[in-house]
Amino acid sequence: ALQDGLTSAFKTLRGKGKLSEANMRDGLKLVEKSLLEADVSFPVVRQFMADVTEQAVGEKVLKSLDPSQQVVGLIYQELVNMMGPVDNSLHLLGKDQVTVLMMCGLQGSGKTTTCGKLGRMLKESGRKPLMVAADLQRPAAIDQLHVIGEQLGIEVFSDRGQKDPVTVCNEALKQAKKLGADVVILDTAGRLHVDDELMGQLQRIDRQCNPHQAYLVVDGMTGQDAVNSAKAFNEALELDGVILTKMDGDARGGAAISVKHVTGVPIKFIGTGEHLDALEEFHADRMAGRILGQGDIMTLVEKAQREFDQDEMLRQEERMKKGEFTLDDFKSQLSQIKKLGPLQKVMGMIPGMSGMKDAMGDMDPEQDMKRLFGIIDSMTADERRNPTKTIDQSRRRRIAAGSGVEPHEVNELVKQFDVMATMMTQLAGKGMRERMKMMRQ
Ligand code: GDP
Ligand code: MG
Repeated sequence: ALQDGLTSAFKTLRGKGKLSEANMRDGLKLVEKSLLEADVSFPVVRQFMADVTEQAVGEKVLKSLDPSQQVVGLIYQELVNMMGPVDNSLHLLGKDQVTVLMMCGLQGSGKTTTCGKLGRMLKESGRKPLMVAADLQRPAAIDQLHVIGEQLGIEVFSDRGQKDPVTVCNEALKQAKKLGADVVILDTAGRLHVDDELMGQLQRIDRQCNPHQAYLVVDGMTGQDAVNSAKAFNEALELDGVILTKMDGDARGGAAISVKHVTGVPIKFIGTGEHLDALEEFHADRMAGRILGQGDIMTLVEKAQREFDQDEMLRQEERMKKGEFTLDDFKSQLSQIKKLGPLQKVMGMIPGMSGMKDAMGDMDPEQDMKRLFGIIDSMTADERRNPTKTIDQSRRRRIAAGSGVEPHEVNELVKQFDVMATMMTQLAGKGMRERMKMMRQ
């Protein structure tokens, strides 16, 4: 999967203490491979790699303090750029007019479901939508839209006797005015594969009913197929946007990049489930994060820079230089990290903290944090400064009782602290950045 590939690519980039042009190119090769594996189309990958490589091996990046972080940033930004500019608007006319939205796409891509999702969203925002069953390919398609309409309390127009979808759409527009509907959503037919008859039919609807917006519904789970069909639809119709469906589960984000690239139109929404409320506005930055497989690492890094208490960092810096590291420092470092969010996620992501995460082993940090703090708070100042020497068996029992834990947990904390303290004092005297570098190696 793209995510796994990229994650390992960045590990390669990151794992090296010093990033050279050669190993930078190794890492980028992996990125390229991952994008191709995720069905991002070849020309897109090529363009992407050319842009990123040029910047990544540039002097500015290689000489920066943290080149691998910079490369991750570059790749992320480039992905965001390729999926933008974002425009989530449906460009609705005023409520006194009728806006016509046309859905098209392959069979099974999610057109009918998406009609319902849009209808629901519009209804919630105070609009009065009318959904139109213009898929006359299969009788079941009409029923399906009626079922959705009933679920949502939204009017559905259909004409089972009619053979021509253009006539159905035109009748529906008249009906919309009678009903006082202000948005009409056309649910058109699809095929398993693009063919001339289907395209001809859609073109006729497009020309004769003049929808204000024509959206291509694309199944985000289908890789290269999605790209090829998007190209065909885009050539036949004047698309105004794309809706990527089935982005729940392990859909590859790759489709977002390619489809945007071949159509040039904005991705409006993503479908994230079969339920009719599973529709989200498309965000290029979130999708880039998803493609990178790092969740919201960028946000975390930025947050880290903002929220770490600078004074506290400096104070600890000074103490470590003197080779001092106490349980109070330990606790304070943990508290700093805790500000950033779920610990398991945060630790190991922040440069320099991966060492601490390893030292902490498999504990569930959220849970154990409270216990750790409880234990530390039950110690005397002396014990916090030098727990290994001062805490004997009876003190251990006292501390355990005071903090409501088992005596062996006090022991474990002291051991963990020992590992940390050794590491910290070894690193003493180094600057913060240097130390973070060492911890990552
Ligand atoms: P159409 O042939 O293009 O009209 O496609 P449908 O709307 O009938 O959807 C085909 C299948 O995809 C149905 O089983 C839907 O429930 C499912 N589906 C549609 N959108 C999504 C989505 O965003 N996520 C998931 N998991 N399933 C979806
Ligand atoms: Mg359908």
